[in-house]
Parts: sequence; structure tokens; C-alpha cells
Amino acid sequence: MITDPAAQQKAVTTSRISLSGVHKRFGDLEVLKGVDIDVEPGEVVVLIGASGSGKSTLLRIMCDLERADSGEVWVGGVPLHDRKRAPEIFGHVGMVFQQFNLFPHKTALGNVTLALLKVRKLSRAEAEERGRAALKRVGLADKADSYPAQLSGGQQQRVAIARALAMDPAIMFFDEPTSALDPELVGEVTGVMRSLAEDGMTMVVVTHEMRFAKDTADRVVFMDGGVVLEQGSPEQVFGNPAEQRTQQFLHRVL
Ligand code: ADP
Ligand code: MG
Repeated sequence: MITDPAAQQKAVTTSRISLSGVHKRFGDLEVLKGVDIDVEPGEVVVLIGASGSGKSTLLRIMCDLERADSGEVWVGGVPLHDRKRAPEIFGHVGMVFQQFNLFPHKTALGNVTLALLKVRKLSRAEAEERGRAALKRVGLADKADSYPAQLSGGQQQRVAIARALAMDPAIMFFDEPTSALDPELVGEVTGVMRSLAEDGMTMVVVTHEMRFAKDTADRVVFMDGGVVLEQGSPEQVFGNPAEQRTQQFLHRVL
């Protein structure tokens, strides 16, 4: 792990992502069967596909939470397939999951500042300044002192987004960030995500929110059975899908 802030600053030189020939198996199950995918700096890519098609595994590989069996994985200029260099990505990518995973005994600000204090070793004053800015960014400036149980699901997920943003990530990954939310709370979370996209954040998002994909994605990638079956602009993929499997999937979800 790189803990020297100067070395961390040097490690990531771009927010580009480039995967080629990525394979991953869990025991007998081949989950990724040769995935190629490129994401340009500032691009918003939405990954769609049936349950079990390998979307989460792919995202976890891009965050270095999971290791590919073979293939090349470049994220932010760091070759994650090179285990010696992979730790350079640490702290440069933000992740938001379906489950918010907030510490219940810490306030919103406490959750957002935790890594700034423990990992970045910022002073409390610096951490709180950055934490408050991140909470403001997600529209929760007034909830800094609230505990998770006092917040709605949508607000809790926005705290989780703020926690990631406070680390100043080059890339943000989202894995079904609205799937645990009541329908009326989805919009406040996708709204924050849209505003990050508009600010130029590089983002890879797994979601079933087709409205978000249509409004915000630069590119939609359809995964099927561990491969990228089809990709294109939202207009192309939703309006005129080339593959029958894509048509069938969209039929079920739209
Ligand atoms: P998706 O996100 O598209 O639903 P996943 O990447 O979560 O797909 O899972 C793809 C397949 O890999 C599924 O069959 C899942 O059960 C399996 N899988 C995922 N993670 C593991 C793991 N850690 N151990 C064993 N099997 C796993
Ligand atoms: Mg998944």
C-alpha cells in the first residue's frame, strides 16, 4: 500500500480504463470469457445485462477488489494485472455499491471523514473541511451531524457517494446504486450521479435504471454470458439493438 501522499499523487496519470482479454473464473464457473472494454477520460459508461452475466465481477476487477485470471487491466495508467504495481490505484477510484455500508454509530460527517483521517492521515480540520464539501456536493450539507438511521435510504446512499468523492477519485464506479431504494428515492441518487457526469467525472455504472442510462450514458455496454455482446450510444443500443439477445433483455426490462 502506498501511504505517502506524494507517491499516491504520482501514481495515477489519467482516468482512462482499458481492459483486454480479461478472463475470470470461480472454480468451475467461467464468469468472464474474454472481455475487452475501453473507457475514455470523462466518459460515462453504463453496463447492462442479465443477472449473472458478470457485470459486478467486471466492476470489481476494475476497482482491484478482484483479480483477473488473465488479460490486461489498465486503470488510471496503472497496470492492475501487474500485482506489484496494482496497489498504486489504491485511493484513486471511488466505489458505490447497492448496500451503503455506512457505520451506524458514526454521523454522516464521521463516515465521510473516516478514510481521510485513517488512510490519508489528514488533520481533523482538513478532513472535516473536505468532508463537508463532499456532503454539500451531494446536497446533504445540513445532514452532517445525522446518523444513518436518521436518514432515508436515498440520503444514506448520497452519504456513501460523498464518502467516495471526499477521497478525490479519478474514476467512480457504481454497482446498482439504486437497487436497494424505494422507487421514489431513486431520483435523488441518479440526480447526484448525473451532476457528477456533467462535471466530467469518468464513471462506470451498473444499473437497471434505463432512464439514467438514456439521459446520462455516453455509451451503453451490454454484457451477456461473460462477454461484451454489444455496445454503442444509448440511442443505438436502446433504439436499434443489433443483437437478438440485447433485444430480448431490453424487452424484459423496459
Ligand atoms: P452480475 O453482476 O452481472 O449479476 P456477477 O459478476 O455478480 O454478475 O456474477 C457472475 C457469476 O459469478 C454468477 O454466477 C455469480 O454467482 C458468480 N460469482 C460471483 N462472485 C463469485 C464468487 N466470489 N465466488 C463464486 N462465484 C461467484
Ligand atoms: Mg451484480
